[in-house]
Amino acid sequence: MGQIEVWEIGYLGLGSSVGDREAHLRTAIQRLKGESVRVKRVSAIYESPHLGLHPSDAERYPPHLNSVIQIETCLSPLELLDRLIEVERAGGRERVERWSPRTIDIDILLLGSHIEQTPRLTLPHPGIAQRAFVVLPLVELSPELVLPNGERLADIALSKTIQGQVIRRVEGVRLLLEE
Ligand code: ADP
Ligand code: MG
Repeated sequence: MGQIEVWEIGYLGLGSSVGDREAHLRTAIQRLKGESVRVKRVSAIYESPHLGLHPSDAERYPPHLNSVIQIETCLSPLELLDRLIEVERAGGRERVERWSPRTIDIDILLLGSHIEQTPRLTLPHPGIAQRAFVVLPLVELSPELVLPNGERLADIALSKTIQGQVIRRVEGVRLLLEE
């Protein structure tokens, strides 16, 4: 008898700030699809300024495009992380310095009800509640979502932290996939 496959719902945050940002998001989504990862839903694209290092140097640190996707996967959290790193590499991601401009960044926001705190992986992603470019696309996909700590995503979306951030929903562009 084979092992029973458990498929869990997860949410991934994608971001790009270099080159053809929209194409990088689109290509990453296509690459993620496979035997053990199904892409179920894709949010709109959101654009926001670069955070972290040198926030005001827009020429060297261009604004980011972000999107959140809902997946279904039979991979474990670490297997999924390895898969994301492969897709980042295929998309030309070079890890120069932390928070530097990037062709493609893919983070695991949530995976089922996994809670992890290891050197390689923190779940849920620790930045969720602070980042409008994560919360807004996530609440768009899943307005009823409740984090493992009991916080409702819809409440976080209305918080001052999120409402105070500069962010624009990019209208008229869809990262949609053919089924
Ligand atoms: P950032 O996403 O913060 O800009 P990186 O993409 O360079 O930074 O990721 C740095 C490391 O963060 C990764 O090598 C990975 O091991 C770790 N990490 C910890 N938790 C997560 C998570 N939930 N999703 C993705 N990476 C994570
Ligand atoms: Mg990352």
